[in-house]
Amino acid sequence: MTDYPHMLAPLDLGFTTLKNRVLMGSMHTGLEETKDWNRVAEFYAERARGEVGLMVTGGIGPNLEGSVLPGAAMMVSQDDIDNHSIVTSRVHDAGGKIAMQILHAGRYAYGPKCVAPSPVKSPISPFPPAELDEDGIEKQISDIVATAVRARQAGYDGVEIMGSEGYFLNQFLVTHTNKRTDRWGGSYENRMRLPIEVVRRAREAVGTDFIIIYRLSMIDLVPNGSTFDEVVQLAKEIEKAGATIINTGIGWHEARIPTIATSVPRAAFAWVTKKLMGQVSIPVITSNRINTPEVAEEVLRTGCADMVSMARPMLADAHFVRKAMAGKAAQIAPCIACNQACLDHTFGGKISSCLVNPRACHETELTVAPTKTVKSIAVVGAGPAGLSAAMTARERGHTVTLFDRADEIGGQLNMAKQVPGKEEFRGLVEWYRTMVTQMQIELRLNTEVTADMLTGFDDVIIATGVLPRDPAIPGQDAANVHSYIDVLKRKVAPGQRVAVVGAGGIGFDVSEFLVHAGDSPTENLPEWLVEWGVADPATHRGGLAPEGPKPEGPARAVTLLQRKAEKHGKRLGKTTGWIHRAALKMKDVAFVGGVNYERIDADGLHVSFGDARENPTLIAADDIILCAGQVPDRTLADALAEKGIAHHIIGGADVAAELDAKRAIDQGTRLAATL
Ligand code: NAP
Ligand code: SF4
Repeated sequence: MTDYPHMLAPLDLGFTTLKNRVLMGSMHTGLEETKDWNRVAEFYAERARGEVGLMVTGGIGPNLEGSVLPGAAMMVSQDDIDNHSIVTSRVHDAGGKIAMQILHAGRYAYGPKCVAPSPVKSPISPFPPAELDEDGIEKQISDIVATAVRARQAGYDGVEIMGSEGYFLNQFLVTHTNKRTDRWGGSYENRMRLPIEVVRRAREAVGTDFIIIYRLSMIDLVPNGSTFDEVVQLAKEIEKAGATIINTGIGWHEARIPTIATSVPRAAFAWVTKKLMGQVSIPVITSNRINTPEVAEEVLRTGCADMVSMARPMLADAHFVRKAMAGKAAQIAPCIACNQACLDHTFGGKISSCLVNPRACHETELTVAPTKTVKSIAVVGAGPAGLSAAMTARERGHTVTLFDRADEIGGQLNMAKQVPGKEEFRGLVEWYRTMVTQMQIELRLNTEVTADMLTGFDDVIIATGVLPRDPAIPGQDAANVHSYIDVLKRKVAPGQRVAVVGAGGIGFDVSEFLVHAGDSPTENLPEWLVEWGVADPATHRGGLAPEGPKPEGPARAVTLLQRKAEKHGKRLGKTTGWIHRAALKMKDVAFVGGVNYERIDADGLHVSFGDARENPTLIAADDIILCAGQVPDRTLADALAEKGIAHHIIGGADVAAELDAKRAIDQGTRLAATL
């Protein structure tokens, strides 16, 4: 008997059956663009071996004008068909099923040739789109349909037609982007003509025994978005036009409400999909922030959907479903929804991976093979770098002893998990704990390691992490000045007015920690929806509350300072920095930049501005928190070097600047893969 009877139940589509209710949602990984089709095939085949019910590829363009970027993967030629066949046959050999997403980006296409229903520029692209005429619209339809036919020729089990997230088909639906007065604009019947026509003609062209998923925006989260009546009307027409499944889209890309970041509550939008259940007779898939089998099961058990889509969780652990089937859910590497190695890479023009699993999208390049010579390896430091090195070394068959001076594993992750909105880090530490035990890594906590203790090992890995940087501000030794460590470990309780020195990732985290009191909205969905201004799309167009975001008042008055004159949070994640900024602004955090720190006294923090140290200003504060970055903790490494004991240094102990868990885990994994 399984704990996940709903998630693991097969789904009969009539002409074919999916082995369970888990869809790997589409992700732009950048793999298809490498043109290394063996690598693409291995990425998907690994997930097929992990028993996921159905996968959807990254978005594939139907033509140049509709492709997300110049150079993005398309399906327009026999060569494309042949290349994609490598992927589909590898997936089928592994017992999986795969659909290809057809993505026409419309005005979101990042190029001068982009097209749209009307010439309304998107706020997230510099390129104004050209308005399509009747022939232009016909060309887009026939290109999308031809792409579906080629996908079938390439051996795919189906296609997903991307109709949400504010892309091309979605742009026809709402008056904000569709100003037309011909048969493709005006009334809702006219505005939904294009998506219906695309599905109808695609079905005619591909035959009846081929999956067509239509991704339909359930809640646009933009002004003048669709009402839920319109969503239901469209869904019914899409069913009539021949779709096999309706998949849920949440929010346009230009929406200013977070929809997938780690601070979004788990399954935060399943209630929206649930409103469609019973309105159509084809299966409905829900999506967004579903990252464990427990959450997936609950969503399905409570009738929110027929199937769940999980995308990033399949990067974190390709064998998510297989482990759930085997009763080993605790061993599933959790997606913490950080976006740091997946979406941030995509938007930075890099191939995706996963912070938790550096092998994601690097399956052919980063291999963890059994060792030929078993070694005894010491790893000092049980933070993310040390943990990943220890686990990888152990996976290869080495004997591993993992030391830490603390009484728990996790290192800096234990601080991150204290921050409201970063609760997912708890699950990550929990997973490491499970794996250390399950893999029989010898764990020695509460142990201050000396160089002499490391002489008997074949290899020594130093992952001792970082120490806070000393900003050397006159007066910083006073009792009203604290390190971020003491705040996040709750060793001090700062007063009502707080100045935070340093606006890096930790300065932002500490500010977030200080402005909250009581429950974290991430763990309280109704509160989170009110905080960000999300309303029921049945009562408010697009799901936007007319009064906008309504956060709880701040628990403290916080001033966040940096010496640089640039925008606060500029160096945070590409896809999440804006959320951190918006969250602190909602709590009235004052951003002060371009400062010199002059001194600290009982009144607060004295600063001046610019090279000439002008405009002396007192930031009145009861407490001052130092978040001025970090330096490597090399104490043990230096002692080893002195004694001539060979060792490797990884993580923050190696380079502290720009350190994050992504680099630490990647470095630890890659080192141990070679020992
Ligand atoms: P950081 O990002 O390097 O930021 C350090 C801050 O301290 C900067 O604002 C810097 O700005 C300031 N600073 C540097 N030297 C200073 C000095 N001598 N005196 C006063 N101020 C100084 O470091 P962090 O905030 O400690 O974060 C460490 C790493 O953890 C980050 O790189 C980040 O990747 C990771 N992290 C990430 C997140 C996330 O949300 N993704 C969250 C937490 C931590 P000025 O030089 O302009 O003053
Ligand atoms: Fe999830 Fe972060 Fe990995 Fe992306 S990088 S898949 S968000 S854990």
